[in-house]
Amino acid sequence: MSVFLRNYLGGQWQPESRTAHALVNPVSGEALAFAGGPAENLAAAYEFARNAGGSALRAMSYGQRAAILADVMKVLQANRDTYYDISIANSGTTKADSAVDIEGALYTLGYYAKLGATLGDVHTLGDGTSTVLSKDGLFQSQHVYAPVRGLALFINAFNFPAWGLWEKAAPALLSGVPVVIKPATVTAWLTHRMVEDVVNAGVLPPGALSIVCGSSAGLLDPLQPFDVLSFTGSADTAAKIRSHDAVTRHSVRVNIEADSVNSALLGPDAVPGSEAFDLYVKELVREMTTKSGQRCTAIRRALVPAAQFDAVAEAVAAKLSGITVGNPRNDTVRMGSLVSREQYDAVHTGIEKLAGEAQLLVDGRNSALVDADPALAACVAPTLLGLRDGASGTTVHEHEVFGPVSTLIGYRDADEAVALAHRGQGSLVASIFSADHAWLARAGAELAGSHGRVNLVSPDVGKTQTGHGNVMPQSIHGGPGRAGGGEELGGLRSLGFYHRRSALQASATTLDALGPLGSL
Ligand code: NAP
Repeated sequence: MSVFLRNYLGGQWQPESRTAHALVNPVSGEALAFAGGPAENLAAAYEFARNAGGSALRAMSYGQRAAILADVMKVLQANRDTYYDISIANSGTTKADSAVDIEGALYTLGYYAKLGATLGDVHTLGDGTSTVLSKDGLFQSQHVYAPVRGLALFINAFNFPAWGLWEKAAPALLSGVPVVIKPATVTAWLTHRMVEDVVNAGVLPPGALSIVCGSSAGLLDPLQPFDVLSFTGSADTAAKIRSHDAVTRHSVRVNIEADSVNSALLGPDAVPGSEAFDLYVKELVREMTTKSGQRCTAIRRALVPAAQFDAVAEAVAAKLSGITVGNPRNDTVRMGSLVSREQYDAVHTGIEKLAGEAQLLVDGRNSALVDADPALAACVAPTLLGLRDGASGTTVHEHEVFGPVSTLIGYRDADEAVALAHRGQGSLVASIFSADHAWLARAGAELAGSHGRVNLVSPDVGKTQTGHGNVMPQSIHGGPGRAGGGEELGGLRSLGFYHRRSALQASATTLDALGPLGSL
């Protein structure tokens, strides 16, 4: 029996719409679920979210909303097994790769539930202390953060149907802002099931969480001045969203997480046999294969000293030869499929494009598959390309292939390594592997201006570092320039997007009447 992903809007499940998009198993091609055409009555649904959801959430303290996040987490934990089944079927990911999405979502929710609890029973957040404005010292200015009085619309990418929702919804709900989620259609089933479970459990006030599945037509039209919009996806769609009439006319605050040509640098000191060298090779292979390389943070450019180019190529190729690819339900498979046959075609085209400039060192396009029909399955084995003289390249620094594909790029010296990393025009993350702490610190500080996160790995943290591609809620996620210019997570910093800063100018006695202020 196939599932129809009905919209939940205005506090009610909406009827099935007539135009239906099939969501398929990317390994077998079997239809699993259907999502509908353009959502109806969106303007009224958004009003309900703002009025009913927003008012109910704002009436609670930060501590009370944090407790609700813990309740949401418990609901999701109780239904975990179902989420794995959906993820393996609809995303084509192995159990381990499904965990990156599902456990990542639960961990992030749990983290915000705990962090939010530290804000306690306050209703207002302060920004610093008050400043005296008058000669007698009585008239003062106190900056406060007030939750935005609109809704938060999330438009998400296909690769993180679980984490993509909750890493955004946790800070929004904690801030007191109702959420409308539009997941990417191709993998919307998991997001939909999670929303359905939370709605059925009744842990959120009516209007606090709504979902639109299927067509994005008309989604932005009813946005109002106090709404916020957070988009994750391709740079092309991001450009349309930024220039949408409702966004520009109403100055809707927008956060964009777009694509990124992330790099990982092997330090000039790291020679074959050194710990930094081995850690680097391990990380690169993990980044190429986790979720079949469909992570916005994955290593696309592996920058290595020209003298170590062949040694790294050999070590990576040896490890990649042990990666079995195919049906994620088969226990011998290490890497599942891409999310769809469209992505399969896009990855093949992307490899061709990179191969116009770089040499194919490991070609995964025609590898044998385990338990999967190559004519149907969206499977591509890991593919490594190489360009010895990195400075001579253009495409390799600009083109993101969203799959298990990386390019090994040679650099002449440490300055050139940093310059090549900057050729990504702003990335979500860069990592550096070296035993030289002083150089790591210097290079890290240089890359910080063009990267949302810089992961510095020396052998002493080799076992405990959290990984190049893993987004930890304690650290910010987002990057300047082509990465979209957005910023999410980073502990309580993420609440800033869902609040307006305002200066309250008043008598010190009036300001005292605000009561205790929380702080970000
Ligand atoms: P996409 O095609 O841009 O789609 C993203 C979302 O936008 C989907 O929900 C899509 O809905 C919706 N959409 C499409 N056209 C729209 C329009 N005109 N108005 C409003 N919404 C619209 O991106 P994708 O293919 O799903 O994701 C892959 C890309 O996302 C990669 O480039 C990757 O690097 C990037 N990404 C970035 C991050 C990050 O945090 N920086 C994270 C993950 C992925 P439909 O699915 O219904 O078309």
